[in-house]
Amino acid sequence: MQDDLIELDKRYYIHPVINYHAHEKRGATIIKSGDGAYLTDIEGNTLLDAFSGLWCVNTGYGHESIVEAAQEQMRTLPYATGYFHFASEPAIKLAAKLVEITPSSLQHVFFSMGGSDAVDSAIRFIVHYFNSLGKPTKKQFISIERGYHGSSSQGAGLTALPVFHNNFDLPLPNQHKIACPYSYRLAHGDDADAVITESVAALKSKVDEIGVDNVAAFFCEPIIGSGGVIVPPKGWLKAMQECCNELGILFVVDEVITGFGRTGTMFASEAEDVQPDLMTVAKGLTAGYAPMGAVMMSDHVYQTIAGSESNSAPVGHGFTYSAHPVSAAIALEVIRLYEEGGLLENAQKVAPFFEQGLQALLDHPLVGDARSRGLLGALELVCDKQTKAQFDPSLKLPEKISDAAYKNRVIFRSFADGILGFAPALCYREEDFAILFERVKKTLDEVLADPDVQ
Ligand code: PMP
Repeated sequence: MQDDLIELDKRYYIHPVINYHAHEKRGATIIKSGDGAYLTDIEGNTLLDAFSGLWCVNTGYGHESIVEAAQEQMRTLPYATGYFHFASEPAIKLAAKLVEITPSSLQHVFFSMGGSDAVDSAIRFIVHYFNSLGKPTKKQFISIERGYHGSSSQGAGLTALPVFHNNFDLPLPNQHKIACPYSYRLAHGDDADAVITESVAALKSKVDEIGVDNVAAFFCEPIIGSGGVIVPPKGWLKAMQECCNELGILFVVDEVITGFGRTGTMFASEAEDVQPDLMTVAKGLTAGYAPMGAVMMSDHVYQTIAGSESNSAPVGHGFTYSAHPVSAAIALEVIRLYEEGGLLENAQKVAPFFEQGLQALLDHPLVGDARSRGLLGALELVCDKQTKAQFDPSLKLPEKISDAAYKNRVIFRSFADGILGFAPALCYREEDFAILFERVKKTLDEVLADPDVQ
């Protein structure tokens, strides 16, 4: 049975973001079930998931109340369109809930199926906004080196990871990048003010270079996730917002990873006291129990796109599955679990165990940096702590680490440049962190013992 599945997978299933030939040789790792913070694979091995699936299962697996909410909605009404003025009850309640829990600048919600189409929708809305405003030259977009904003035709150009561009004719000519606030690798990285000042100066100079009348928006993640869990200093997000406001460009915060309790507050924007013009969310919105994302929009953007009362043309943007009622019912229950089911509170309570565990590994010969905020963190491996030199890619260290970790029954993200990413579920207990760090240390010790790595 297992062999059959592996053969079928190799033959037919195109997986996201992997080398196709490498996959044909290796075959899939098939996960069968999940419970709390643990997964069981098809061979019956139980593994600690320290990555919440793909930074999304913030509640942990197997919440009966989420299953019940989905079942009930499926029975009552499995689908309703949002087109032609139709709506479903959970979609309306969810829109109101999202406006309640996001920063007060955000007053309206457009629903997508995930993060990429939320980012793509935001881009389309921004283009519409500036055309409606009578400023049609404002069409250039700025984002950050190492940033990730999804894999859609336009959003993948705001993403700044080369594999998302190579052979895809990206970035588009109207997509620009500024340097990443990567404290660990900056000469003055210990000086938070200097890191912030440098980012602000980089944004100003990029806008200057392009011409302020041509720049539409600046997109950023509060913590750069898929680019290696790079945590900017506190105050960075606020400074970027103030800079955007000063320059008269839209400030778009992509909270697809950082939203829904991941960094210790419901949204990272809340902790930083920022008021974005637009915000994208997904992942933790439904905790991965069903696909859904959203673009949150400020009233001035919404009103400008809506146009005058005499304008009767529809705004031509939407999807069949925008505001899917089953996803919306799931999201409402997931948010209830964060707020009233104790998950957000637990995340705040256990975050120190996570931070201490990461920091303790700084003593390990392989670990050059440990960084985190809330339950989002990383270890950065280096072959020389003084020079911070990275391991030679020919050693295939990331693959070695993933394989060793799997054998040690723990799953985390092993990035190409030696960064290990962690995003434990908000339901983790103190004892889960003890297991996590014991397994991570064992994995690092085994990799260190590899004669190629020494
Ligand atoms: N934005 C950010 C910040 C993300 O991390 C991701 C996904 N990792 C996306 C957008 C795209 O989301 P999705 O994969 O749901 O399309």
